[in-house]
Amino acid sequence: MLVGKVVIKTAGGCLCGSIRYSFDRDSVISAGHCHCVDCQRATGSGKATIVFVPTANLEVLGEYRTYSVVGSDGSHVSRGFCPTCGSPFISYVAEQPDVRFIKAGSLDDPSWVRTEASYWQVSAHAWDPVNPDIPSFEKNP
Ligand SMILES: [Zn+2]
Ligand SMILES: [Zn+2]
Repeated sequence: MLVGKVVIKTAGGCLCGSIRYSFDRDSVISAGHCHCVDCQRATGSGKATIVFVPTANLEVLGEYRTYSVVGSDGSHVSRGFCPTCGSPFISYVAEQPDVRFIKAGSLDDPSWVRTEASYWQVSAHAWDPVNPDIPSFEKNP
């Protein structure tokens, strides 16, 4: 019988290593793909794959900069990046202070990530379509 809980720490960071972060894998709320045009622009790719982590469980070491915009649905979105190497690794929405969005590709080991949904299918491109095996939302859920 298993007593107690094994806490699996998950870590990640930017390309140059000046920013490092960690959180408990058990605390992860969900993960998904965002195909919105802002995520496409900010990542330089077809979508952002993001892991939803409770703000209280995330520890970030190093100073990052943010760029804030009003998102397509009117929410206030800040995207964080390393000022040295430019890697985007975090974003958050002012209206949802309890959750942080970690870019899956910035994890040291992203192999465990299970994406559960796609958002902003309306702006997905033919060269990076939504995953047909998981639910898709036309915009935000
Ligand atoms: Zn960096
Ligand atoms: Zn997006």
